[in-house]
Amino acid sequence: MIGDNGRMPIRTLSPSQAHARQRAGALLIDVRAAHERALGMAEDALGIVREDLQADPARHLPGLDAEVLLICQRGARSLQVAEVLEVRGYRNLSSVDGGTDAWDAAGLPMQRADVDADFSERYSRHLRLPDVGLDGQKALEASRVLLVGAGGLGSPAAFYLAAAGVGTLRLADDDIVDRSNLQRQILHTEARIGTPKVASAVAALSALNPRTRIEPIRERVTSDNVERLLEGVDVVIDGADNFPARYLLNDACVKLAKPLVYGAVHRFEGQASVFDAGRHRGTAPCYRCLFPEPPPPESAPNCAEAGVLGVLPGVIGLLQATEAIKLLLGIGEPLRGRLLQFDALALRFRETRLLPDPGCPVCAPDRAFPGYVDYAAFCAGGEV
Ligand SMILES: [Zn+2]
Repeated sequence: MIGDNGRMPIRTLSPSQAHARQRAGALLIDVRAAHERALGMAEDALGIVREDLQADPARHLPGLDAEVLLICQRGARSLQVAEVLEVRGYRNLSSVDGGTDAWDAAGLPMQRADVDADFSERYSRHLRLPDVGLDGQKALEASRVLLVGAGGLGSPAAFYLAAAGVGTLRLADDDIVDRSNLQRQILHTEARIGTPKVASAVAALSALNPRTRIEPIRERVTSDNVERLLEGVDVVIDGADNFPARYLLNDACVKLAKPLVYGAVHRFEGQASVFDAGRHRGTAPCYRCLFPEPPPPESAPNCAEAGVLGVLPGVIGLLQATEAIKLLLGIGEPLRGRLLQFDALALRFRETRLLPDPGCPVCAPDRAFPGYVDYAAFCAGGEV
């Protein structure tokens, strides 16, 4: 049959036919991107990404008459590559019908990545992203995150970090699940009222992703334990939304050079930022560059009156999880030196540029660490 363009249509072979041709000496070329091939490919296939092969086929192929079998994920791309090569004069081309998926499903020999089936299935949507891929997913699996607070901000953050495959999630909270938490703290359930929040979180997160190791620490952050909590972690998320924890985490993150993902909510408004002054002295701000000291307790709003729209910490906590994952992967533009403010009623985001304070008591370059301060616990915006 001659196609409309006057050329012979490209020959397609079933995976088993292709395998037989390969064994007879045909060259099998996998034209997928490197991050796709990293997850596994037909055994003894040669990986040459489509763009490279099409740009300079003579460099990769032995000759115009050599028998070449092209394979991709499902068979569409390899067919297109074959059409391009045919125009360039290659006469003995086949595309593998159904691609690597069909090859694998037919039980033909595969070179597999060094990951188990659960890993490749669970994280398949990450693995397909060139900016994450196998290397990024392995980096997430090797990463450790400290999340302070298993409440309104911590709940969505913890769920998505666990789902995303963060290897170790250290979760610190000394509180007990209360019925009034359930309006927003989605880690917890009616049945777990009265149990420690960290225990409730372990149950929820292990059910979602048993690969993520949860380190429950039933403590609130103090000057005594803050450095122990930060030990060995790559990113710190402040989901406590209270002044004592905020200042302790800020100061410890500056001292120990860890990025801090900040979030806070109040009624219908929330904000988030990344404070990374410890790793970027003099160029990135810390929280104290904005507010050197907490406000006096008497000026804080009455805790019982404050209230918070239940979905609001969900939005802010997910922004925090997003920033944490970007920091762990080293991709994108972090929310560093920027304060993102969210107004749920107007549904508007506003961004304010934050500059480091050259006189900051904690993060100014060459400043000696002043020591930790345990501020009195009081509530500005209600317990989240
Ligand atoms: Zn500072």
